Amino acid sequence: MTPPVAFLDLKAQQARIAPEMRRRLEAVLAHCQFVLGPEVAELEAALADFCGAAHCVTVSSGTDALQIALMAEGIGRGDAVFLPAFTYTATAEVPLVLGATPVFVDVDPRTFQIDPAHLAGRVAEIRAAGRLRPRAVIGVDLFGQPADWPAIAALAARENLFTIDDCAQSFGAALHGNRLGTAADATATSFFPSKPLGAYGDGGALFTENADRAALFRSLRTHGEGTTRYEVLRTGMNGRMDTLQAAILLAKLTVFAEEMAARARIAAMYDRRLGNAVAIPARVPDSQSAWAIYAILLPDEAARDRMQSALRASGIPTAIYYPRPLHHQPAYRDAHDGRSLPVSEDLAKRILALPIHPDLTDDEVARVCDAVLANA
Ligand SMILES: *Cc1c(COP(=O)(O)O)cnc(C)c1O
Repeated sequence: MTPPVAFLDLKAQQARIAPEMRRRLEAVLAHCQFVLGPEVAELEAALADFCGAAHCVTVSSGTDALQIALMAEGIGRGDAVFLPAFTYTATAEVPLVLGATPVFVDVDPRTFQIDPAHLAGRVAEIRAAGRLRPRAVIGVDLFGQPADWPAIAALAARENLFTIDDCAQSFGAALHGNRLGTAADATATSFFPSKPLGAYGDGGALFTENADRAALFRSLRTHGEGTTRYEVLRTGMNGRMDTLQAAILLAKLTVFAEEMAARARIAAMYDRRLGNAVAIPARVPDSQSAWAIYAILLPDEAARDRMQSALRASGIPTAIYYPRPLHHQPAYRDAHDGRSLPVSEDLAKRILALPIHPDLTDDEVARVCDAVLANA
């Protein structure tokens, strides 16, 4: 039997960049500045340049990037933070950890991104109830496609909300010709190994156009320090990225643009062969996805589970992002106001992610398509 397809192939990627990776790691082993070594500043400059942002501050994870962005705004008890119900748990966990209340918003049934009309309704509801102060909105660029940032920004301006782009799945994606990184007041991304740009451990970054905000992010990631290490100005955290991860990301950045192109090419092949047989999310106009995830939508939960089993039997791994909308998770039940969010609830039953990574061969893509079509 033909060997199974890989959902993600970090070994194949490593083989492509082995000499550069070795050179980068050996440089760190030689200088031994394992925390905030020179590679960290080099990476921050390279990442800011890549996405066109004025400032980049690397941190220990995507989750910590979100947390630092909210801490910098002083968001906490009594504050409402609006975010989509159909996302990874980290988006909602962070406001709760800080004592704020996540307010779940439904997603657009075509693009699966946070629905700006529903967002406006939720903000109005929270204002009318008068118990919480609407403070911020976290938009998520789900699966790598940009959220509707012009609509989110317009609403945020009217309602005086701070905007955070949870760009964990979409670093490198672009909207109207601009890479994500400047669409919101703060942009938070993740370098978890399975993200489009992944480290060999945890890592993340924040982007902002505002120099004072960037300085605050730097202070918060190192225990709220001031101009010297032993001046503590505010409550911060230990949220730095380590130098070895920065070195790994610098090596990976040399091939990132090619990898993005490879992912886009694979997505186009899937679209061409599968687009008429299964439902796929609508593509956001005038945008480029980072293709962190290639999702299809089956008619119902039973059909989704049948498809997943059939693909598994043919050596094709799949994943379900996300099997439960966040407002139905036990951790968020008490924070949620009980609203039903029908689109998120429906997607969780029908969604299925197919393999997509830069080392997937055309033959493997064809195999995945054949298997999906045989079972659709
Ligand atoms: C992965 C992810 C995060 C968290 O990133 P970590 O680096 O794992 O902490 C946050 N939000 C979304 C949407 C993600 O996919």
